[in-house]
Amino acid sequence: MRPATDIHAIIDRVENGSADIDDVAALLDSDAEADIFPLYERAYAAKRRSVGNCVYFRALIEFSNRCGKNCLYCGIRSGMTELDRYTLGEADIMRMAHWADEARYGSLVLQSGERHDPEFVAMVERVVQRIKAETKLGITLSIGEQTRQTYARWRSAGAHRYLLRIETSNPELYRSLHPADHSFADRLACLNSLRATGYQVGTGVMIGLPGQSLEDLARDIFFFRDMDVDMIGMGPYIPHAGTPLGQAAPPIPDVARRLRLTLNMIAVTRLMLPDLNIAATTALQALAPRGREFGLQVGANVIMPNVTDTEYRDGYQLYDNKPCRDENAGQCRSCLERRIASVGETIGYDEWGDAPHARRRLTEGAPT
Ligand code: SAH
Ligand code: SF4
Repeated sequence: MRPATDIHAIIDRVENGSADIDDVAALLDSDAEADIFPLYERAYAAKRRSVGNCVYFRALIEFSNRCGKNCLYCGIRSGMTELDRYTLGEADIMRMAHWADEARYGSLVLQSGERHDPEFVAMVERVVQRIKAETKLGITLSIGEQTRQTYARWRSAGAHRYLLRIETSNPELYRSLHPADHSFADRLACLNSLRATGYQVGTGVMIGLPGQSLEDLARDIFFFRDMDVDMIGMGPYIPHAGTPLGQAAPPIPDVARRLRLTLNMIAVTRLMLPDLNIAATTALQALAPRGREFGLQVGANVIMPNVTDTEYRDGYQLYDNKPCRDENAGQCRSCLERRIASVGETIGYDEWGDAPHARRRLTEGAPT
C-alpha cells in the first residue's frame, strides 16, 4: 500500500497537468481503501467545482440494430446471423422523442448500428429535422463512422453532439478487436471530421479488454485530453457469448477488478479534465446494481436512460445481461430519480446540459 501523502501528491500532479503516464497508471491501479478514498473524494470535489451536482439525462433511443460492421466484441455485429434485425419507423422514433421531451429529459441520443446507404442517411436527416422542429430536445447522434458529408448533413439538420468511441487508443489493441477491414486511422479521422463539422464530440473506451494494460488505459486518458473532446462515455467491456471475443475465453480481469478500473478511469478523467461531461454508462450497472450511482459519486455527471420500447431491447444486446431489459421508459425514470436522489445529486430537467468545456470553446470563438 502506498502512503496517503503519495496519493495526494500524484493527484496534485494530475490536477495541475504535470502527471506522466506512470502517475496515471498508478492511480488507475488503486484498490486499497487508503488509496481509493482520497482518489474518489478529490474526484468528486473536482466534479462539484466544475460541473456541480446536477446530473443530465440523455434519453437513449436504440433505433436500429442493423449494422454493416463486424466488431469482434459486439452482440449486434453483422456476423450474428441468427439475430432478428429491426429499424424503428419514423413515427415510433418521434413518439419516443416526444415522450422524452414531455418527461423533461432535455436531450436525446439516437444510437444504432452503422449503415451508409442513402435511404438510411436521409431517414436520419428527416428524423433529426423533425425532432428539432417538434421538441426542445438537444440531439446527440451515435451512428458510427460516416463520411464528412453525412456528418455535415446531420449537423445542418440539427444534431449538435456526436458520440464515437475510439474503443482503445492503442492501435495494436484496436486491431486485435476488429476484422482487418476496420481501421483505427479511419476512426481517428472520423473524430476529426466531427469536430471540423461543428459537433460537440464525445469519445470513450472499453475497460478491461483482453490484452489491455494499465498503461493503455492511462494513455486513453491522455488521448481524451489531446483530442480536446467535450464528452466521455466509457464503460467496462462485458463479454457477449455469441461473439468471437466473448468465445475466446479471454484473460480479462474479473468483475470486481473491471468495476474498480472503470470507477478509477472516471475519477482520474474527472481530475485531469474537470470540465467535460462524463457518462455513468449502463454497462457499469451490468457489473453492479448500483454501478451508475457509484459512477456519479466518483465524477460522472450524465446518465443515458433507455427510452426505447421494451420489445426491441432483446434485439439490442451489445453484451450479455444488459440491464433494464424489461423496464419501460416510465419505470426507468422513477427508478433513476430515486437512485440519483440517494447519492445527493439533482437532475437537470429540461436542460441540454452541454459540458462547460464545450461552452467555453464556443464562446472563446475557437474553431468548432
Ligand atoms: N455502432 C455505433 C453505436 C453502437 S455501439 C458505434 O459502434 O459507435 C456503441 C458502443 O457499444 C460501442 O462504441 C462499444 O464501445 C460498446 N460495446 C459494444 N460491445 C460491447 C461489449 N461487449 N461490452 C461493452 N461495450 C460494448
Ligand atoms: Fe456495429 Fe457499433 Fe457493434 Fe461495431 S460496436 S458491430 S459498429 S453496433
